[in-house]
Amino acid sequence: MGSGHCIVEAPGAFDLDDDGISFVVDPAAVSEDTIIDTARKCPTQAISVHRDGVRLH
Ligand code: SF4
Repeated sequence: MGSGHCIVEAPGAFDLDDDGISFVVDPAAVSEDTIIDTARKCPTQAISVHRDGVRLH
């Protein structure tokens, strides 16, 4: 969908490719809470968050 919301909410963690598809750049660029909050706000629920094999969102 490429809303770009994740780029605004978690700067440095996500970017959009030339087709407007989001991809992960550096999940450590922001806090884990910010990543989870960003995932919750993704309008298409396209972001899942895992740590040590456990799904956090
Ligand atoms: S992953 Fe979600 S928040 Fe990020 S661009 Fe795609 S739809 Fe938007």
